[in-house]
Amino acid sequence: MTHFSRRSFIAASALAAGAMALPSAGRAAAPLARAQGPGAYRYKLGQFELTALYDGTWFLPIDGKFVRNASGGAVNAALAKAFLPPNILPISFTALLVNTGKQLVLIDTGSAGQLADTAGFMNANLAAGGVKAGDIDTILISHFHPDHIDGLKTKDGDKVFPNAQIFVPEPEWTFWMDDGNQSRASGSVLGYFRNARRIFADIAKEAQRFKPGAELVPGIVSLPAYGHTPGHTAFAIHSGNQSLLAMSDTVRNPELFARHPDWQPIFDMDGALSVKTRRRMLDRAAADRMLVEAYHFPFPACGHMVKTATGYELVPSMWQPL
Ligand SMILES: [Zn+2]
Repeated sequence: MTHFSRRSFIAASALAAGAMALPSAGRAAAPLARAQGPGAYRYKLGQFELTALYDGTWFLPIDGKFVRNASGGAVNAALAKAFLPPNILPISFTALLVNTGKQLVLIDTGSAGQLADTAGFMNANLAAGGVKAGDIDTILISHFHPDHIDGLKTKDGDKVFPNAQIFVPEPEWTFWMDDGNQSRASGSVLGYFRNARRIFADIAKEAQRFKPGAELVPGIVSLPAYGHTPGHTAFAIHSGNQSLLAMSDTVRNPELFARHPDWQPIFDMDGALSVKTRRRMLDRAAADRMLVEAYHFPFPACGHMVKTATGYELVPSMWQPL
């Protein structure tokens, strides 16, 4: 067996390329596409068909205070380990469509272009996947942060999913719609209160509140996952003998918060409770070798979790041809 050093391999490749008859320059000239292909990825779970719907990525500048219990240097080191630049957190948004065969269920709704210029593509990707917004009959909301609920309405306040029954976690509704809680809020959290009212105030009668733990659709069970917000909810999806744990924001960027499950980003409203929830869910996913999905994982946002000496590692799912 011949062993090549990297350098000799490159030199040999260059020689081989030079020896081939290359097409003359310009033969395959084409304008650059300058746009991404559709962000809709399908996979089967038992009898269900799931579609990961990419909404976009928000590139959030962060400072040394972004993680309450880790230094900016430690966070930047974790970003560098993931080949990411410092001081910017790429927050990817992926909603999940579940076709149970009887119902079309959307879990969270994307940002509808109301958070960043680099996000708001979920509906275009839904259409690319052959589904109209009007076809969706059920929407499950994990929590009331803008990146999960803004897609319910356009900037002008029109409903995006006119025929959908909307389910929201009861403790989430109770917290964000309480005037006393809002009066004590400031900064970005006050913005979340105002935004929750913008989205829900005039559709309060249509938004059905559920107790986390309840089965909302045959095969989709809500799971209390409190901490990130007071009513933050995950979902377990079961069909046949297969299951998937949709973790919502229990684990955000895996390169930071799966590898360092004890880190408490400022987005986690109750940091200590979030850590407990995160560890409980990651432990279950790793021990049971469950397929997982999370809203802020890199698209298509699904894979498995492996326990390591210090945390957990995401093993992304391989693209399936069928
Ligand atoms: Zn989120």
